[in-house]
Amino acid sequence: MTNFMQCPVCQGSGKIACNSCGGDGKVFWPGVSGKNYPCPDCSGSGKAECFLCKGTGVFYPPVGNKKKK
Ligand SMILES: [Zn+2]
Ligand SMILES: [Zn+2]
Repeated sequence: MTNFMQCPVCQGSGKIACNSCGGDGKVFWPGVSGKNYPCPDCSGSGKAECFLCKGTGVFYPPVGNKKKK
């Protein structure tokens, strides 16, 4: 029996906005005259793999250890 649900972080897409560029896919390097560069973390896609579901879009809720008494 599988007990899973849609990932609450990425809404099941498996992707989240890249933390380094905020989802823009571009980063601004200070000191370089007004130019944006593709984000090295997401290769300019603006998306990152969801940290919770590892890109699967599926979240497995922790199974509570039911203690038997
Ligand atoms: Zn990025
Ligand atoms: Zn996710």
